[in-house]
Amino acid sequence: MAERKPEAAMVSESTLKQGRSLSRNRSDMGKGISEQRFTDKSSFPKTDVSFEDTAIAFKNKSDTELFLSYLIFKLTKNPFLVKVLSKAAKITLALGLPVKPIIKATVFRQFCGGEKKEEYEKVISELGRASIGTILDYSVEGSEDETGFENTMKQLLHLIEQSKSDPNIPCTCMKMTAIAPVELLETVSSGKNLSEKDRREWKEVEDRLDLICSASFAADKPIYIDAEESWIQDPIDDLIEAMMAKYNTGRAIVFTTLQLYRWDRNDYFKRLIETARAKGFKLGIKIVRGAYLEKERDRAKRMGYPSPIYASKSETDEAYNRAVQIFVEHIEVVEICVGTHNEESCQLMVSYMNENDLPRNHPHIFFSQLYGMSDTISFNLSSAGYNVSKYLPFGPVESTLPYLTRRAEENTAIAGQMSKELEIIEKERRRRKLYIAGVLQSSLCL
Ligand SMILES: Cc1cc2nc3c(=O)[nH]c(=O)nc-3n(C[C@H](O)[C@H](O)[C@H](O)COP(=O)(O)OP(=O)(O)OC[C@H]3O[C@@H](n4cnc5c(N)ncnc54)[C@H](O)[C@@H]3O)c2cc1C
Repeated sequence: MAERKPEAAMVSESTLKQGRSLSRNRSDMGKGISEQRFTDKSSFPKTDVSFEDTAIAFKNKSDTELFLSYLIFKLTKNPFLVKVLSKAAKITLALGLPVKPIIKATVFRQFCGGEKKEEYEKVISELGRASIGTILDYSVEGSEDETGFENTMKQLLHLIEQSKSDPNIPCTCMKMTAIAPVELLETVSSGKNLSEKDRREWKEVEDRLDLICSASFAADKPIYIDAEESWIQDPIDDLIEAMMAKYNTGRAIVFTTLQLYRWDRNDYFKRLIETARAKGFKLGIKIVRGAYLEKERDRAKRMGYPSPIYASKSETDEAYNRAVQIFVEHIEVVEICVGTHNEESCQLMVSYMNENDLPRNHPHIFFSQLYGMSDTISFNLSSAGYNVSKYLPFGPVESTLPYLTRRAEENTAIAGQMSKELEIIEKERRRRKLYIAGVLQSSLCL
């Protein structure tokens, strides 16, 4: 791997220009958008980007693929069915029954890139033709031992190496729990004294992360590090902050993730901005709403501490939009990935960009969605010239089962999102006049 040392800031000319022009506008923003609250849909700014064009969104999908997507989203709307099918898939795979081809041809195909490189490379090229970058997500979960962690690290280093020569892979991503034991993260988070063994293991975790970040730095490809449950997040935050200070000297290479359903995250965001300014590094931030809502609330209730999560969806939405605004106000020091399937949040980012005359492909701004979801957002944004990427999980079908189950379960929990996915697929089917599929659908009583 080519050696590249962290060096002094090397922000591109155009970025600097944008940063300066934004600073000039900041006082106007203070009087305008800063004071607005976007809880009411009608108060959302209108932009020239529309997410309604289903022909653009599904241009890569054949009629059969479209029908398959429809069936999958229709089925995952039913929580009971999702529970039964997830359990059945796990048991039948464990028993060695021949269900793998069925899973692979259906739900795996919808949400994952493939098992092998030859398979997911096709998806990368397909997305690349629509100017959408791929963030390969090595989705093997559950290997909770040293060998498993080392293997995951090697796999990640391999992906970073691969990304170097592939312009369709703008960055990579990882979860800390893929290279660190959850119990150790819990212990460090709790502030308890570490045993000698814990200390040794913790050093190994630090070394693994450093190796991954240094490889990303050498490859000049950012790495997005996922946010996880709040009770293990503090040490993850500390580790990432140290990596950002070390490797984000020129541009943001290491990205942390903020879950805006947590009511403490925008304050943390502001503290990070101050630290980045004081220490002279760039802040890499992926903003998401958060994936562990029920788990967080259940644990807080069970253990008798205040829930770290906002009490309502609208408060989470407001916090998300506020994070977008904080970013724009500090764009010269922050690079962002807007990770969401929420149209309003994307429109808000677009409207801020318009207001501040930022180019659509501004190097500090990426939009990102999960593969198999919200294609209307991804494809329409990229077609309009914005930077867009998709998280693409890959790996053996058996190993991606926890991811697929979570996807299905999340989808049943997010009724609004599911209806939206179905709505857009139905719209495209109507546009293509797919009557035969319609007959088949009604004969299957769907
Ligand atoms: C590219 C990408 C990367 C991601 N990375 C991560 C990650 O690192 N860590 C992580 O945790 N998640 C991650 N996610 C998942 C993300 O956190 C959300 O679960 C998912 O994207 C749904 O939120 P949304 O903004 O897309 O859409 P929406 O449908 O607008 O929002 C749904 C979300 O709102 C929040 N919410 C719903 N109901 C309530 C309520 N009653 N009270 C408070 N909040 C509520 C929840 O967070 C829920 O997931 C990622 C998603 C994407 C697209």
